[in-house]
Amino acid sequence: MSKDTFLITGASDGIGAVYADRLARRGHNLLLVARRAERLAALAARLQAAHGVAVETLAADLARPEGLAAVEARLREDAAITGLVNNAGIAGEGMITELDPVNVTGMINLNILAVTRLAAAIAPRLAATGRGTIINITSVTALMPAAFTAVYPATKAFVLAFTEALQAQLSPAGVRVQGVLPGITRTAIWEEEKLETLPAAMVMDVEEMVDAALAGLDLGEALTVPSLPDTADLDAYLAARDALRPNLSLARAAARYGLGNA
Ligand code: NAP
Repeated sequence: MSKDTFLITGASDGIGAVYADRLARRGHNLLLVARRAERLAALAARLQAAHGVAVETLAADLARPEGLAAVEARLREDAAITGLVNNAGIAGEGMITELDPVNVTGMINLNILAVTRLAAAIAPRLAATGRGTIINITSVTALMPAAFTAVYPATKAFVLAFTEALQAQLSPAGVRVQGVLPGITRTAIWEEEKLETLPAAMVMDVEEMVDAALAGLDLGEALTVPSLPDTADLDAYLAARDALRPNLSLARAAARYGLGNA
């Protein structure tokens, strides 16, 4: 018996393709989205044959208005879709001093705009029915904005903040929202030569990454960092941030600015 349908963006390769495999194994029907139609069709045929689920494909460029609008429309209108894996993303824009404006616009369109609009397209239906799942793939670079390139980690910090806000708004209505923060994961997002230069102990295989993320979902984790040994460390980080709140907006400036406020 098939369960609800998940729409997975970036399903033609890497993390998204493994989500497709794992969700099909769990009996979910799928709607696979990416630009490369033939790869999607081949994956769909394999998963349908292996797991007896219905797998549809929708070739769309989510960095472009027409592609995004087509996928948004499906999420708004297709009541069978009760799960979204907001996964498609690109990285590697280089140094800020050498930024290609076209490339970085595409990155922001895909990593930020598409993630936002797709979540917003499905949220009203899920909130109204009080069920469903949104999984946003962010990155550990969201937690270390100065350790990589400038724009990619900032796009992932957006997705992390957006996910926490979605949780605040949708969890009370019964919608599961999970943010997944992978570390370095062996996929085509990395040039093979670059991966070879990284310590093997820092690079996770993509199957293990996705299996851990889905186990985190089953455990009810709001944020999943697949390699983090102790979730108390993440909780402590979030608690330290929350502890700032009482002083983040006050009528008077802090004493160190010399405005006469004791
Ligand atoms: P990947 O192997 O390069 O796969 C990216 C997927 O996104 C592909 O299916 C690609 O398919 C799709 N895609 C790219 N541009 C698109 C567009 N304009 N419209 C629609 N689909 C598009 O990368 P990955 O490592 O699996 O990355 C998946 C997500 O994980 C990304 O959000 C990434 O930031 C995040 N992440 C990855 C790592 C890592 O180390 N791998 C770490 C942290 C976070 P088409 O080319 O067919 O469109």
